[in-house]
Amino acid sequence: MALSLPSDKALVPFVSVENMMRLVHHIGIEPMLVDLTNVIEADFRRWPVFDKTPRVASHSRDGVIELMPVSDGEIYSFKYVNGHPKNMARGLQTVTALGLLAKVSTGYPVLLAEMTLLTALRTAATSALAARYLAPKRADIMAIIGNGAQAEFQALAMKAVLGVRKIRLYDIDPAATEKAARNLSDTGIDVAVCPSAESAIEGSQIITTCTADKQLATVLTDNMVGAGVHINAVGGDSPGKTELHRNILLRADSFVEYAPQTRIEGEIQQMAPDYPVTELWTVISSQAQGRRSASQVTLFDSVGFAVEDFSALRYVRESLMGTDYFQNLDIIADPDDPRDLYGMLLRAQ
Ligand code: NAD
Repeated sequence: MALSLPSDKALVPFVSVENMMRLVHHIGIEPMLVDLTNVIEADFRRWPVFDKTPRVASHSRDGVIELMPVSDGEIYSFKYVNGHPKNMARGLQTVTALGLLAKVSTGYPVLLAEMTLLTALRTAATSALAARYLAPKRADIMAIIGNGAQAEFQALAMKAVLGVRKIRLYDIDPAATEKAARNLSDTGIDVAVCPSAESAIEGSQIITTCTADKQLATVLTDNMVGAGVHINAVGGDSPGKTELHRNILLRADSFVEYAPQTRIEGEIQQMAPDYPVTELWTVISSQAQGRRSASQVTLFDSVGFAVEDFSALRYVRESLMGTDYFQNLDIIADPDDPRDLYGMLLRAQ
């Protein structure tokens, strides 16, 4: 892939939050979600070329800080991301992130970007990608349980990629549901505000759980999940932080991003190490089957994997061409004579 901008080899394009928002509106939110779904799908199709590792997590009482590196041999990327469920009560985001792309041939960074917004977009795109292969045919009603920062992105990706037309919202905090319903009111989605999780999932062919709580929670119990449903479990993404009762996992066919990471962080951390899972890339590259029957319960046990960030950052870099939605940062010391780093410092006096 060509990585051209900018012309000075040592300046690094930086996409601030403000510029990311301008870029998203320039492309259009739904078109960008479709594009991201397609670029992530293309990268999942070439999965074996990636040098992969479960993310490096630093856990504390209130949350987790993670580094997510990956490389395809030409480009390297990493994301810094946190997950702090109690932040919301302090007026802070549960999840914030920033990311970097670099050229493997020189090790020089070629993009630095905010990734709080980009993570919400890529997570929603990955949900839509999984649903493309796993959801029942012509699914058009989805429940979203947990109506925080990720919720509207999840709704819009399912609309743009799958054609979901009705969203049933539930959150333990009615203010979160009101916020999501308000934000989705002009999107062409028919939104229903529901009084309980049970009522939200009534008639839904897709159930997205997107809650934040640093515990083994039970947002869904087995008796709530009807035959043929696709569950998109987004919020259980760290050790000791899950959303589904384990009996659901005994009944469902589980699909994951990268099994070594999901066994540590996903819903399946509740299961034995040999609990069978299918990696999504094998379905996308026709090596494994996705949905087999109308009555099958499918589960996408989403935790977020570095390849999705790699795809999203690469897409952002390509999309910057011909725009001014970035600033060039002077963050790489690059003297004219590579051996004269000290001389460069001296001359600056
Ligand atoms: P947020 O804090 O903005 O929103 C979470 C919402 O869940 C809140 O409105 C809260 O009231 C609600 N909630 C908590 N417990 C609930 C319950 N039992 N039933 C119903 N609602 C409940 O968080 P966010 O940024 O929207 O993230 C949601 C979750 O998704 C987090 O756990 C986060 O770590 C995770 N996440 C996963 C990925 C991934 O790739 N899988 C990416 C981003 C975020």
